[in-house]
Amino acid sequence: MARTDTPPEPTSRPPLRAEDFYLPPPKRPDSAWQLVPPAERVLVWYEEKQQRRLPRRSGTVLGVLVYPQINHGRWVADCPECSSAQIVTPADPRLFCVECLSGWFQLTFPADPLAAEQAVKGLPVREQNWWHPDDDAWNRPREPETDPAPPEGKVSR
Ligand SMILES: [Zn+2]
Repeated sequence: MARTDTPPEPTSRPPLRAEDFYLPPPKRPDSAWQLVPPAERVLVWYEEKQQRRLPRRSGTVLGVLVYPQINHGRWVADCPECSSAQIVTPADPRLFCVECLSGWFQLTFPADPLAAEQAVKGLPVREQNWWHPDDDAWNRPREPETDPAPPEGKVSR
């Protein structure tokens, strides 16, 4: 029997950002985490879910390029240490992995994140996928190999 207690997935919506996803539990007011910077909301969300504290670290891990992507209608970045994925936001382009606690990573969003969101606008959520032009992500579709052009004067039919 099909479950009826979960709302159906929307067919289309703007890509989710960290501030849209990591929300206070229903027992707390919507504004409870208003003063928490968007990139840090995953920490309080994780603490709420796991009922345990996480360490707060300052500083940034240098020399690591991390490209966020739009993946199934969410801005997502993979931790460069453990590959755990997290929902992120161009409004606060940082990542702190709540799985391996490896530190803060600066994220390399596109110069115009709204243009990336516009590129997937109207698509079904599962088809809202976008990659940074410089990103060689494991899940990025590869360009199909093209056959060499036929010799001049000979057109194949
Ligand atoms: Zn990690």
